[in-house]
Amino acid sequence: MAAGDGARTVEAWTARRRRAEALQSRYPFARGLLSLYGALLDVQERAYAAARAEGLAAGEVPAYAARSVLPAVLTITARHGPERLAEAVRDDDRWLADGEATVRRWLAGADQEPVERYLARAAAAPLLEALGPAAGEACAGPHDERHCPCCGGPPQVSVLAPGPEALSGAHRYLVCARCATRWPYPRLTCAACGERDAARLTVYAEGGTAEAETSGTVVRGLGGGPQPAPAAARPHFPHVRVEACGSCSRYLLGIDLTREPSAVPTVDELAALPLDLYAQERGLVKIVPNLMGV
Ligand SMILES: [Zn+2]
Ligand SMILES: [Zn+2]
Repeated sequence: MAAGDGARTVEAWTARRRRAEALQSRYPFARGLLSLYGALLDVQERAYAAARAEGLAAGEVPAYAARSVLPAVLTITARHGPERLAEAVRDDDRWLADGEATVRRWLAGADQEPVERYLARAAAAPLLEALGPAAGEACAGPHDERHCPCCGGPPQVSVLAPGPEALSGAHRYLVCARCATRWPYPRLTCAACGERDAARLTVYAEGGTAEAETSGTVVRGLGGGPQPAPAAARPHFPHVRVEACGSCSRYLLGIDLTREPSAVPTVDELAALPLDLYAQERGLVKIVPNLMGV
């Protein structure tokens, strides 16, 4: 499906904010991260509205992000960020001086160190969303089915959503790490390399979920406590799973909206830290780290 034909569905700012608040009480281990994210959402929503009102052009994204969004991102991060990140961004002058180039590298798909990538993403995302289908003109990236049809960015999260018709079954989508466009993608196919051999694709889900019972692969001891969660305990993540590939050793998290319709994929993806740790302990590498570098 081409960008610009109505397929481009992105999450509303209010939905993200409400979900980040709701998940803070549900996931104590992600509270700090979600509180930083919630504060960033305020900055991003203002930037989104301003960019729309001012008629931002695609070519202006790096300069505009550095000038009008990055200063507030730095302030919020120094105030609400985890200690290491907050400390790293306190040298405002350095990040501001390099801001435009930092954003340009993110839009070009270049390798970046985590703090630089975090700042570029936080500042550029609302502008790319404001541009809509024109976001592609600001970005570089492959135009194949494993990359965003709008901007060529990599997939951040996989989503299972109810089909458009009652009896059509669930549909799988990928959500772009750069511009948040959602595009259809076949189920049982690796989002990194396209592997389709079911024997090489593994799903890991938390013990106590229907997914774990059917897949036979179980993540135990979520929450970082010393004791494994009892099998009968209510799962933390009934709607999140690790979708891993044995061919390329990459993974991403999948959010199942048929199990939890109130989930907001990019927000739930940020909060599911224990599943990331589980995957990474098994030697799997995420297709692209999320906004918070996980
Ligand atoms: Zn995109
Ligand atoms: Zn693969």
